[in-house]
Amino acid sequence: MVSATQLSSYLYCPRKLFLSNVLLVEEPIKAELVLGTIWHQTYESLNNSEESIVTSIATSNYQEIFDIYRHKYSKILRDVILKNKSKLKEFNTSMIDVFNKYWPNFEEEAKEHALNISSFISKHKIFGKELWNELTPKILSEQYFKSKKLNLSGVIDVIEIHENKFHVPIELKTGKFPEKGMWDGHRIQLAAYMLLLDDAGKNVNEAVMKYRGTDKRILSMNSFLKEEVLDLINKTSTVLNSLEVPKYVDNKNKCKSCQFKDTCYDQDAIKKLLADATNRLKTSKK
Ligand code: SF4
Repeated sequence: MVSATQLSSYLYCPRKLFLSNVLLVEEPIKAELVLGTIWHQTYESLNNSEESIVTSIATSNYQEIFDIYRHKYSKILRDVILKNKSKLKEFNTSMIDVFNKYWPNFEEEAKEHALNISSFISKHKIFGKELWNELTPKILSEQYFKSKKLNLSGVIDVIEIHENKFHVPIELKTGKFPEKGMWDGHRIQLAAYMLLLDDAGKNVNEAVMKYRGTDKRILSMNSFLKEEVLDLINKTSTVLNSLEVPKYVDNKNKCKSCQFKDTCYDQDAIKKLLADATNRLKTSKK
């Protein structure tokens, strides 16, 4: 089965996908990867604590609700940074710098949540469990979906459920982002999530990309996009299930920053890795 991230990886460079998934070349850990992990873990933890925050609120006053969120979110971010302390040390990255870099985003999230809850309580005058049950949108994080029919799987960072009906998958990214819209690989990843949700019987029309420090960028589903994803699933699956090394990518700029560059251009290394992969395949068939 093909994963949504593998589709994005195929779009970037089929050869890279082959190297990491078929020849099992390991990706070296980079500082960006650790920072991305902190970002994701913080979001996951925030979303998992949402019910307990909402049910603890006993006021409709925006500032008081914001203070509750602010306090909780800053503690979660600090805890996650501490959990990754040793990895940050490896890259000489200061914990305070990471906090200062990420906090404005999470403070913004705290404001959004506080505003939503404050206006919801002012309108409906309900608290506790009742407030949680009625509140919209609801937020779920790290949800795994798979579809045999689509030959596709994926873990969706965040899903917002509006009025207990409309599902909006949200992908969170920390790296560079385009001035407008989203990178092609991210667009396909989001489209794949929409197809997975649709296949699971959920009502879904659009998805959201959140690049750190930017507004939400929205993607709508249409028949062309669906065809594009289905075609990519087939192409990606072909690469993953073959021992044929894909060609070098046309855009050589991609190679400059590729962590597999040395192995990729070393014909002897590729030959050896291919022999290993062939042996693994033979052994698995015995
Ligand atoms: S070095 Fe270039 S061709 Fe090789 S895997 Fe990386 S991006 Fe692809």
